Amino acid sequence: MKKNDWILIITILLIAAIFWLIHTKFLQDEGSYVTISVDGKVIHQYSLEDDIDVEIKGVNEGINRLVIKNGKAKMIDANCPDKLCVHQKAISKDKETIVCLPNKVVIEVHAKEEQEYDAVVK
Ligand SMILES: [Zn+2]
Repeated sequence: MKKNDWILIITILLIAAIFWLIHTKFLQDEGSYVTISVDGKVIHQYSLEDDIDVEIKGVNEGINRLVIKNGKAKMIDANCPDKLCVHQKAISKDKETIVCLPNKVVIEVHAKEEQEYDAVVK
């Protein structure tokens, strides 16, 4: 092969690698709703299209305040000792989570509606 062929192959591989990186890093699936779990059980789900401001009762008198605004979910307040959940960034992509370990509260983003949660939300 000539030198130019190698340059062409390397260029194609580089472009493929860049596309793959962009796809995995930036084109993560947009979330469409979040589920709220306490102690491993899903207790609520909310659409990311709705603006909400709710208090979640966690374990051991735990209270977490979740806000959904502009398609992003964020824990804005909590009475847990570490406040790690409050410091986590707003989430909006599929499979992103905010976890409050002390209160056992987990907020998770999902890409599309799933029927299996309907029975749980009451
Ligand atoms: Zn917390």
